[in-house]
Parts: sequence; structure tokens; C-alpha cells
Amino acid sequence: MVRYGRCFRGLKVMNAERRGAAAVIIYSDPADDGFTQGKVYPDGPWRPRTGVQRGSAQFASLCAGDVARIYSKASALDLCGYATEDLVPKIPVLPMSWGDAEPILRRLGGADAPGGFQGGLDFPYKLGPGPSVVRVMVESTMKARAIWNVCAVVPGKHYGTEDDRMVLLGNHRDAWVFGASDPNSGTSAMIEVAKGIGRLLRKGWRPHRTMKICSWDGEEYGLLGSTAWGETYEEELRAKAVSYFNMDVAVAGTELVVGASPSLEKLVREAAASLTDPVSGKPLLEAWGGLIRTLGTGSDYTVFLDRIGIPSVDLAFKPQGSNSSYGLYHSVYDSFSWMERVGDPAFEYHALAARLWGLLAIRAAGRSVVEVHPPTVAGRLALYLEELQELRAGRGVCEGHCFEI
Ligand SMILES: [Zn+2]
Repeated sequence: MVRYGRCFRGLKVMNAERRGAAAVIIYSDPADDGFTQGKVYPDGPWRPRTGVQRGSAQFASLCAGDVARIYSKASALDLCGYATEDLVPKIPVLPMSWGDAEPILRRLGGADAPGGFQGGLDFPYKLGPGPSVVRVMVESTMKARAIWNVCAVVPGKHYGTEDDRMVLLGNHRDAWVFGASDPNSGTSAMIEVAKGIGRLLRKGWRPHRTMKICSWDGEEYGLLGSTAWGETYEEELRAKAVSYFNMDVAVAGTELVVGASPSLEKLVREAAASLTDPVSGKPLLEAWGGLIRTLGTGSDYTVFLDRIGIPSVDLAFKPQGSNSSYGLYHSVYDSFSWMERVGDPAFEYHALAARLWGLLAIRAAGRSVVEVHPPTVAGRLALYLEELQELRAGRGVCEGHCFEI
């Protein structure tokens, strides 16, 4: 039995399987995204007693995308060095709400759990084994099905020639259950950006660089659509794509969370400085504070950033202090009615997300010189190296029990 948080759920399953687990139950602890954090659904953005976080348990950190690579002449083994069967769990895996997990956890005996593992439920957490006994039955199917990416092209001045360069925008379209935040808030922002660009084109505007606006499919199953597209057009993208702007959860709250490649930080801060935060009335840059995180994986920028090396940006408005996770994530409660009543009743943050994304894309496509900003890049590289060294030394990660992260 494992708890959500810290690392991708697929890694938890992989580590458990490698250590002989017969099955894995992953539960959401209220200390991470439930009542300990604030008001729960329907009054707030945090996970209620019955909230289950669905999600792919594919070993996506080894190799994202369709594990069978049906669209490609190359196999997962050729592309990532892992066989198809090594990229999916062989044991049953089930997500669980804290309400359902509580009776199992409460009846666990054995040693006390390490300090950091005590969660938000009102009893001391134990490591087991037993006396709780659980029988896990999972019914799931694995089938090949068609998915669709939909891309629109706005030709730049050099479109169709060797000199053409591209700016990419993307958001996924598939959702767990209703997906009002994830991904439909992002999809609505993308449609607004596309409409805005359409209006500019009718006025005679034309971008310097070609813009591609893509609606990805199959993201939730393991970044299937974007990875297939990126791998299929890899050569062209490597030669011509200068930046990728991703939007997944556009709005789940009012606090801007940005992940970006160092070379694009300046562009993001400048765009945020020219917009206004609806709640505080301050410039968005000031309300946000300008903190930019390191992009790793977790959404459709993965193939562009991690495989092809295209500088990328990921944008989201999350609940205050949520540290990037939020309570309705991947649950049935991520619904339009919640969004309309609690999440963004005036849809102001939806509009702001569209403005920010659109500005970034138009500026990146419009400038004749690609922004690189060497001082920022150099500073970030030094920081990344430091982080790597810390990970290698195991500080703050292993605490005596080292797992693959
Ligand atoms: Zn998503």
C-alpha cells in the first residue's frame, strides 16, 4: 500500500513490483491534497473523503508514449532501450480514496512508520504487515485503438522553405472522467488563442515563424498522442522547431505555476508583466512572483523537451499553496459544475490563461531573433548540476531506503 506524492505513481508501482509486491494500492492522503490543506469539494479545491486519483501506472519515466509503438517502424526497445513488456506493470494496481484506505491503514500493526510518512488521519501510521488482509481484484483490458491528434498550421514568412522555423502550441483533449480543469480549461484557452490568431490573420497580420497549434489525444494513458507526433516528425522538428508552449491544466485555482526552459524565462516574465491578475489587480508578474520551475515530465512537452531538445514552457493556475498538486486532480469531482461554482466562477483565469499563452506564442513567433539569454541558461545549468549531485549523494531522497527515482 503506497501513498500518492513526491514521485510519479508509475515509479511507485515499478519499485513495489521489483521488490516482490503481489499488488499495489495507491491512496491519496488528506495531508497531501485533502482536508489538511483546506476546504474540500464541494466547497473548495481539495480532495474529499471519496476522491480517487486515477492515472496511468505505465513506467513512463523509462519511456513515455505507446509502449507497443504501433505507429512506428522502431520498437520501444530501439527508441528507449526497454522492451514493451518492461514498460507496464505485471501486477494489479488500484487507486483508492482515503475514505476507503482508512480502515485498512487503521488496522495495520508492526513498527511505526518513519516520521515523514505520518499523514493526516487521526491514528499513528504503522508499517505492517497485517493484521489487515486485502484481496485485490482488477479488471482491465489492453487493446490497440486509434487516437487522433488535430493540428492547425499558421504559415510563417518562410513556410515551405529551408529557412522556415516553427513555434508549437499544444494541449491534450482526453480526460479522466469530466476533466473540467484537466485538460478542458487548457483546451478552452487554446480555442480562444486560435480564434485570436484568426482575427489577427484577417487583419493582415502574419507571423515571422510558422505556428503549429495541436490538440493531443491519449495524454492520460502515457503521453501517447504527442509522443507519436514528436517521434514521427522528429527530424523536421529538430531542424525547425524553436519553442513549444504547453497548456494542460490551465485553471484549477488562481496561483500561476510556470515551468520553463531557462532560455524562455525572460519571455515568460515579460508576457506576465504586461497582463493583470484579476483578483489582486496587480500586474500578473507581481502577483505570481516570477518563480520558474524546472520542467521534467508529466505532460505533453516531454517528447519535445526531453527527446528532441526543444525549449519548452508549461503554464497552469493552481490553488494557492498547492505546490503544483491539487485535490480534484484526476477525480470525478473535476467537473464543470465545480468550476462554475468554486474554481473560476467568472472564468477570468481562463481568459487570463488564454492571454498569457497567446502572448507568448505570438511574441515567440513574431521576433526575428530567437531568445537564448546565456546568463540565465548558465545559471540554471549550474543549479541542475548541483541538484544532480545531491540526488547522486542520496540526500533528501533516500533516507536510508534507496529507490529508483
Ligand atoms: Zn492533463
